[in-house]
Amino acid sequence: MKLESVELKGFKSFAKRTKIKFDNQITAIVGPNGSGKSNIADAVKWVLGEQSAKSLRGKNMNDVIFQGSDDKNPMNMAEVNLSFENKDRKLDSNYDLIKVSRRIYRNGDNEYRLNGKRVRLKDIKELFLDTGIGKEGYSVIGQGRIDEILNSSSQERRNIFEEASGIATHKYRREESLKKLSKVDEDLEVIQREWEYKK
Ligand code: ATP
Repeated sequence: MKLESVELKGFKSFAKRTKIKFDNQITAIVGPNGSGKSNIADAVKWVLGEQSAKSLRGKNMNDVIFQGSDDKNPMNMAEVNLSFENKDRKLDSNYDLIKVSRRIYRNGDNEYRLNGKRVRLKDIKELFLDTGIGKEGYSVIGQGRIDEILNSSSQERRNIFEEASGIATHKYRREESLKKLSKVDEDLEVIQREWEYKK
């Protein structure tokens, strides 16, 4: 599995549709300060479900939408597409190429898509569980993150190791199952009360 390309439109400093392709070797993105290199890493995290505007270096989520410049008007929508090559089926899908997309509109509406089909954020998270990719994965390490890890509390550091070792997946599934169990308990209580009432 490999990230083949990132396509951005209206995302932060990328007003025009821009596609960045990654070949099989190392790809380095170079440019002057403030030219948008980190915005590309932000775009990857954003599509993978980042919900914290602060992590994306903004105040609120709308800050990811192009705000305009001297010669361009602000835009109403930001869109990023990530294309993953999946011939090895590391991602649980029958497609050789998987396109994961996210859009946000100025009114706050958010859309996630997998190969063009509308999905929930939960579906995106589940697709990348156990792959090391994901908003909490260690595939995207931002500036200052190493210092942050070294300075984190022991509980925070434990969470990082759990995520990196794959335990976080099992914790996630456990939490999901507990939620379902608690819903079943609630339903049972309702049925029990109705039954008592009818007796
Ligand atoms: P450095 O080398 O200094 O780390 P960089 O190349 O990583 O810089 P970024 O931090 O990715 O640069 O980009 C910062 C630029 O993105 C700033 O010029 C900022 O004005 C611009 N920018 C961020 N959000 C938006 C937005 N919503 N609309 C337009 N421009 C934006």
